[in-house]
Amino acid sequence: MVKIMNELLQIKGVGETSVQKLHQNHIDSIGDLIHTYPYKYEINSIKSIHEMVMKEEITIEATLEKSSKVMFIRKHLTKIILTVYSDEIHFQVSIFNREFLKNSLLPGNRYVIKGRFQTPLQMVASEIIKKENYIEGIIPVYRLENISSKVYLKWVLEGLKSKASYFTERLPQEVLEKNHLVSIFDFYHIVHSPLSMDDVFLATNRIKYEELIDFFLRLEMMKQLQKRMFVKSKTYQIDKVKKYIDTLPFELTEDQKLVTNEIFRDLKSDRQMNRLLQGDVGSGKTVCAMIASYAVVTASEQVAIMAPTEILAYQHYLVFKDSLEQFGVRISFLSSNVKGKEKAKVLALLKSGEIDIIIGTHSLIQEDVEFKNLGFIVIDEQHRFGVNQRKTLRKKGYTPDVLFMSATPIPRTLAITIFKDMEISSIKALPHGRKPVETVISTFEEMDLVFKRMMDQLDFKHQAYIIVPLIEENDDSKFISIDEFKAIIEANIPDNYVVDYLYGKMKSTEKENVLNRFYQNQTQILVSTTVVEVGVNVPNATFMIILNATKFGLSQLHQLRGRVGRSNHQAYCYLLTDGFYDEESRLDILVKTTDGFKISEADLKFRGPGEIFGNEQTGIPRFKMANFINDKALIESAIEDAKTVMFSSDPKAKSMCKITLASLETYHLD
Ligand code: ADP
Ligand code: MG
Repeated sequence: MVKIMNELLQIKGVGETSVQKLHQNHIDSIGDLIHTYPYKYEINSIKSIHEMVMKEEITIEATLEKSSKVMFIRKHLTKIILTVYSDEIHFQVSIFNREFLKNSLLPGNRYVIKGRFQTPLQMVASEIIKKENYIEGIIPVYRLENISSKVYLKWVLEGLKSKASYFTERLPQEVLEKNHLVSIFDFYHIVHSPLSMDDVFLATNRIKYEELIDFFLRLEMMKQLQKRMFVKSKTYQIDKVKKYIDTLPFELTEDQKLVTNEIFRDLKSDRQMNRLLQGDVGSGKTVCAMIASYAVVTASEQVAIMAPTEILAYQHYLVFKDSLEQFGVRISFLSSNVKGKEKAKVLALLKSGEIDIIIGTHSLIQEDVEFKNLGFIVIDEQHRFGVNQRKTLRKKGYTPDVLFMSATPIPRTLAITIFKDMEISSIKALPHGRKPVETVISTFEEMDLVFKRMMDQLDFKHQAYIIVPLIEENDDSKFISIDEFKAIIEANIPDNYVVDYLYGKMKSTEKENVLNRFYQNQTQILVSTTVVEVGVNVPNATFMIILNATKFGLSQLHQLRGRVGRSNHQAYCYLLTDGFYDEESRLDILVKTTDGFKISEADLKFRGPGEIFGNEQTGIPRFKMANFINDKALIESAIEDAKTVMFSSDPKAKSMCKITLASLETYHLD
């Protein structure tokens, strides 16, 4: 039993039964009452009968001429038929299961009737309300059990009269003004009884903003509290680094220069680097990592480069060797497939400091690997790694600077929430002279034509990828399998072109061989599953066919497509579908743009961040109202404000920080 001295009893119209009902809805105080917002608003407006469209819902006003008796049609089904007129048009209205209306239907009275016309003179009504009881305008709808929205609103309005203490504004004036937010006093009134859709917008905007500012303030304060380890500043030799940059076969882009400077600032600082390098596919992140790695080597510290797949790690190994060995840098490769004596040798050299840069997969930070002097770690394609790498390293006694690289361009607003405590660097522009990949959606029927286009490219001595999603043999779908496809290829490709196949399940030495042959243009066509999705870099490849393209997410297709268009030659990507899927419109964005940010936004709209990044791993907040894509401007503003609020001397800002801090006390800081 709820105690009788409930403050809700002060409200006009609320008796003990109402208190019980409110309690069922978890409303036990005037505060609860006021803070239970409508979940939607209905717009009530009366139309003229002349605006009627058959079978569409309409609300009209009519005068009752007569009503029938309640007719019992069958069990649980009763009907009343009314004869009414509106604007001199006489018609019939049927309403079902409303026998209780019987006594209130009086000829000559005016009623508001909501329903659908089945024939021009016959309407089936869903609601009949006496004209004087009908409220025109925007009606709040609450999600409550056993309490009508109308009654609830009455109580709320009474409650609002009684409780001035709820109107204490908690947001600083500065923040209210900057974001055009309504004051808390106005807010409570318009959220419960808005007069216009503008009011609804103002109310929801304030709810969203409060959600966001609370979240970002928390984030900002967590960042401050997180202990960033002190490390030795790296004494790299800048003239050597400059000389190395001069040997690169290209000029760095402005973005690359900027990012490199940011990384160097971190290397020099006595705080541990924790930086995310974001850049679209092909934007040239690797070279930035290479320059930084070399700098660390000139400071006599070791570097570890980690990639999510063996293929990618091995490719980095080749690229680093090719570029840095001439400067006397000692580079080795390590993966779970390096075994026995060979592995023992690498481990010994790492421990004695005779390897400068070690490149490999996850296994690099596993139990038995010891370094002499690990100073810098680069982690490529971060979101494919678990979040615990850094902790593992710290447990082993290493506090290297860490650079994460990610080719999944996500809106800054989302990046900040996912990569919480990292600094973010971005490469936005592609190297000069790159042409956007020409992208075409095609069907299997047009395969001949697509193959012809591919031959054109091969005749220019270019290479091609064909991407086949992994389809089980016995999958009964219409999708084509790699084996079926082998047969098609063998029938269509002239013998002078060499075709190779790459699967995830292949032995790693085999994979390396396949990729090496492709790098060296010994094979012209690489038929592959999505194992080439991240990172593989063969600039001479200018053509790609993606089979069963509708099977993939947009971001994934963008990554795959990013394997071509890595030189100044025009590249092409054919997205093959079976032509039956209306999902194709989803693929249109890939035809229209090669801007990874736009594509990931579209992907986020279709799938939501959780599905793309995994909720567990990223801790993406689920806001009740705010939305990462639609409320970008508000999010940007809240991120900015969180910083202002944290350092503001405004008493309201201070109080917000104090409350946030208290809520963080229980939070485990690592
Ligand atoms: P991603 O950012 O996708 O990892 P990579 O680092 O693999 O891209 O670079 C893609 C290609 O662009 C490589 O072949 C690289 O040598 C080349 N590249 C990088 N920077 C430049 C530049 N400034 N000008 C021309 N080519 C560049
Ligand atoms: Mg890369």
